[in-house]
Amino acid sequence: MTLINILHMNGGSEDSSYANNSLFTKIVMQKVAPLVKRTIKGMANQDKFFDRCFMIADLGCSSGMNTLLLASDIIKTVHEVCQENNQKTPQFQVCLNDLFGNDFNNLFKLLPNFYKTLRKDNGEKIGSCFVSAFPGSFYERLFPDKSLHLIHSSYSVHWLSQVPEGLENNKQNIYIAKTSPLDVLQAYGKQFQTDFTKFLQLRSEELVHDGRMVIAFQSRSSLDPTNDECSTLWELLTMSLLEMLKEGLVQESDINSFNLPVYFPHGDELRRIIEEDGSFSLEDIDIFEIDWDQHDIECNNRGKKTTKSIRAVTEPLFSSHFGNSIIDMLFKKFEKKLADHLATKKTKHLCVVISLIKNE
Ligand code: SAH
Repeated sequence: MTLINILHMNGGSEDSSYANNSLFTKIVMQKVAPLVKRTIKGMANQDKFFDRCFMIADLGCSSGMNTLLLASDIIKTVHEVCQENNQKTPQFQVCLNDLFGNDFNNLFKLLPNFYKTLRKDNGEKIGSCFVSAFPGSFYERLFPDKSLHLIHSSYSVHWLSQVPEGLENNKQNIYIAKTSPLDVLQAYGKQFQTDFTKFLQLRSEELVHDGRMVIAFQSRSSLDPTNDECSTLWELLTMSLLEMLKEGLVQESDINSFNLPVYFPHGDELRRIIEEDGSFSLEDIDIFEIDWDQHDIECNNRGKKTTKSIRAVTEPLFSSHFGNSIIDMLFKKFEKKLADHLATKKTKHLCVVISLIKNE
């Protein structure tokens, strides 16, 4: 089965759902907010942006509250900017995109409250807001030509369009690891370059002239992708799988043929790809560090919540490859290893957020 039919976050609103385990990405969004604000303020001097209906897209929106929080923030900022300029606030269309398996219904159920809060917080002067869904891969066209003003995407574009080819030598690893051969590192880097270039070209067709795009990525401070900040969590998952191999619960060939379709680019790599492609100019960039175990600072159960977040994101990938029956055990082992790890080490990682403007 192809990746676009498998990849999605855990749906619903139960304990194991993404909706219930997206505190981490909510923190990312809060940190990204100042750059989103600067981007919108930068659009204010061109009348064309706020004159009728302001078209926003959130790519890789998933099914939690984050998406609607972001939309509220954007609408509020546009409203403020318009009031400062004695201008009528435009109408808004918010286009939510994610893959076909995403639980859009869960998002739709949050809409009545979203619309109500929007009016309560901004008063009746706010322009009408229309939310709609656009299921599909952001590695394909999603919207009509020149139809969007602002595209936003948080922690989604580091998902690749496919598992890179040529990973046969990445034995007993599930991602780039310290023991991965060099050609594995190169295959991941090349896949990201191909995917991100295509992403930029597609979005530039969909944005109006001078349209903007804000994208947040999990990134890394080191040029070396095997550095602990991006590999630790995945290596702990690999160790859990290898333990299950010893116990006869998984097959070696299944571990060898599994690799995660994700890549955490260095800021320099992003700059290079953007420059080489030429569809956009880099306007603004923010870089900050986040602790993986934010949730657990006050909590005796270190690792428990982080395990739930990782499970909410990766469970469909693991279960489609290894089968449902190993999942509980896999994450039980992972939680124990993560708790031991967090007891002695901080697991920080870097977030890079870029603001791009479309070139003509
Ligand atoms: N933006 C949300 C979700 C981040 S999780 C938040 O900040 O909380 C990443 C999301 O990207 C997932 O929902 C996943 O299904 C989606 N995604 C990954 N690859 C995608 C693709 N090619 N096209 C559309 N969505 C994709």
